[in-house]
Amino acid sequence: MRAAVYLGKESIEVKDVDKPKVGDGEVLVKVESCAICGTDIRTYFHGHHAIKPPHILGHEVAGTIAETGAGVEGYKTGQKVHMVTEVGCGRCGFCRQGRHNLCPDLRAMAYYYQGGFAEYILIPKEGVMQGNLLDIPAGLSYDEATLAEPLSCCINAQEYLGITFGDMVLVIGAGPIGCFHVELARLSGATKIVLADISEERLALAKKFGVTALVNSAKEDLVGRIKEMTAGCGANVIITACPDPKAQEQALQMIAPRGRICFFGGLPGGKTITIESNIIHYKELSVFGAFASSAPQYRQALELLAGRSIKGADMITHKFPLEKIREALETARSGKGLKVIINP
Ligand SMILES: [Zn+2]
Ligand SMILES: [Zn+2]
Repeated sequence: MRAAVYLGKESIEVKDVDKPKVGDGEVLVKVESCAICGTDIRTYFHGHHAIKPPHILGHEVAGTIAETGAGVEGYKTGQKVHMVTEVGCGRCGFCRQGRHNLCPDLRAMAYYYQGGFAEYILIPKEGVMQGNLLDIPAGLSYDEATLAEPLSCCINAQEYLGITFGDMVLVIGAGPIGCFHVELARLSGATKIVLADISEERLALAKKFGVTALVNSAKEDLVGRIKEMTAGCGANVIITACPDPKAQEQALQMIAPRGRICFFGGLPGGKTITIESNIIHYKELSVFGAFASSAPQYRQALELLAGRSIKGADMITHKFPLEKIREALETARSGKGLKVIINP
């Protein structure tokens, strides 16, 4: 089969590799669409501590079941599926709660196992047993279904934030993740949603999602603008959807009393921030982290996309065949588009 094999920083080669053999309990999926995630971009350009080349990246997968191994129940050839990335041990307390993303022995697809920038992807027995292949609802294309993975991660974060009617929400970072956060905040009833980014191009693309105001934080003082918009009070909810330590520090300076902050975007390895923790104390703040997601949240994401409550099609700006993976990764990094999809 053809696969894009990541060989190290800025090195990826599309070549013939052995098609995976399907063992007992495993399922082979023919990849129809695999979207490029921020993690793929970071890994390709900067490397990833958990990924040892040669390796096949790509975890936002939608496809068709091509083959099922002996003993597999509940899945059949031809079934249209979206893949859950997180493969837990299945035995620890978190796995038993269905929170495989928090499993201490997490073995994710495209990190531990091979990924979806290839014609086929093999789902391991543990993943099959956890029900990691979800039906794509009728009317949803393979391309749109890939979005359920990043959207599910945003749903996971917003469960902690409990956004409700009347909330003023600030999202920092206007990439696909920032746009999903805007859409979810709107569905939850937020009254005002402000989106900030340092790229004018990104802000222009993000305009069509339910944003009340856009702020170019490269040109304007973001903290000052938020204070101005809220009569000095600050935002009720702030989500940092970017890998910028400054955004995390600023969040503490423009949050309202009893506000909730989510540090959604991870920081580049080793980066730290300095915060005045008394702000959390006196303002009675809640500061959350959020990482990955779990199968029930993928299901919610698929339903939101299928019901067109979230405008998935508007999020997809570029599509490339597998052979053009390098160009696709460059495009995704450039910030000239939102979601970039590979159709192997
Ligand atoms: Zn992703
Ligand atoms: Zn576990």
